[in-house]
Amino acid sequence: MKLDTRAFRYLTAEDWRVLQAVEQGSKNHELVPTPLIQQIAGLRGGSGVHRCISTLAKAGLIAKVKNAKYDGYRLTYGGLDYLALNTHRKSSLLYSLGNQIGVGKESDIYITASPSGRQLVLKLHRLGRISFRSVKANRDYLRHRTTGSWMYLSRLAAQKEYAFMRVLWREGFAVPEPVGWSRHTVLMEFVDAFPLRMIERVPEPGGLHAELMGMIVSLAQRGLIHGDFNEFNILIKEEEVVGKEGEMKLRPILIDFPQTVSTNHVNAKMYFERDVACVKRYFERRFKYVADEEGPLFEDAVRGVEAERRLDVEVEASGFSKKMAKELERYVEVVGGDDDDDQAAAAGQSDDSAQDDDEEGEFDEGEDASEVEGEGDQDAQHDDAELAEQLAS
Ligand code: ADP
Ligand code: MG
Repeated sequence: MKLDTRAFRYLTAEDWRVLQAVEQGSKNHELVPTPLIQQIAGLRGGSGVHRCISTLAKAGLIAKVKNAKYDGYRLTYGGLDYLALNTHRKSSLLYSLGNQIGVGKESDIYITASPSGRQLVLKLHRLGRISFRSVKANRDYLRHRTTGSWMYLSRLAAQKEYAFMRVLWREGFAVPEPVGWSRHTVLMEFVDAFPLRMIERVPEPGGLHAELMGMIVSLAQRGLIHGDFNEFNILIKEEEVVGKEGEMKLRPILIDFPQTVSTNHVNAKMYFERDVACVKRYFERRFKYVADEEGPLFEDAVRGVEAERRLDVEVEASGFSKKMAKELERYVEVVGGDDDDDQAAAAGQSDDSAQDDDEEGEFDEGEDASEVEGEGDQDAQHDDAELAEQLAS
């Protein structure tokens, strides 16, 4: 699902209002009937609304759907992307959109620039976009979701990720600085570094290994377990050691938080041990490094948790409720975290993306046998400079 910003330039204020109206109407309606769109948008004179609807449908931002009782429209992922981009733009967080730098299993990652020229990463969550082969056992759960519920889950994932990054960043953890959140997107600091997976050689694996274990323990001491602590979610930055010219040190930076859980979770111990084992296994396989000592152990790590410093509790209090966490967790359980196959496919983006798009289609818009019209061509390739210009205008 490529982000196509061509229409950004020509949408009028009224088009935006209508797009927002479809979004709002979607909260209670699987398809939003035209009169409701008109009412929410608060635009007088029917023909104006019809023109907006037609523009938005042609651009693939909304889609016409027919069910047994009436015709209506629903927001597409493209439309949701536009609304999020526009919110970031209006908050002066985003000025232009650059290259896509990553296709995660369930996210698209773009480089963007802020109005002051700072490079930022835009992560668009795309839950529901998983390949069938990795979820065969759970097709039913996935099939019975509608486009609206995928979007809802993607929003939850973004909200959760932002909430956790915010507290972790504030507390001095090595995570990208979170800059903004809208709908299914998170805007964050761009870390100019490669994932551990891409690092061929580590001069001193023992040091890095210890640092990663230290990170897992420090998180647990604040009530958190990352839950997907693997070589794809650890970026490795090469930094000069302060005061020692020419001496470089590898600094790990942790990303990807939608599956983070509390140390009070019923399966916390299992998640903790899985994170630990994941690092150990990778170091052994890739760098032939095995640590001398056992652990760290979950029991030891959580012994130091101080109630008033718990970040899990803080995040919950800040609005990401237990109920929301449960809804998202159900999905994560079914689909699982990053794994080698999916990441490898995603890493080789250029030829795999076409295939990805095919698989995606299976769950995509209009699963439920209703007829979909007006989807734009989402796959067109664009010149990046042109994109930048479009968003800026
Ligand atoms: P997913 O949930 O799809 O795995 P991630 O958050 O792990 O998404 O991001 C996917 C990839 O995008 C990462 O492996 C990394 O290469 C790149 N990436 C993500 N966030 C950043 C960032 N802030 N700075 C630089 N690269 C990033
Ligand atoms: Mg990841």
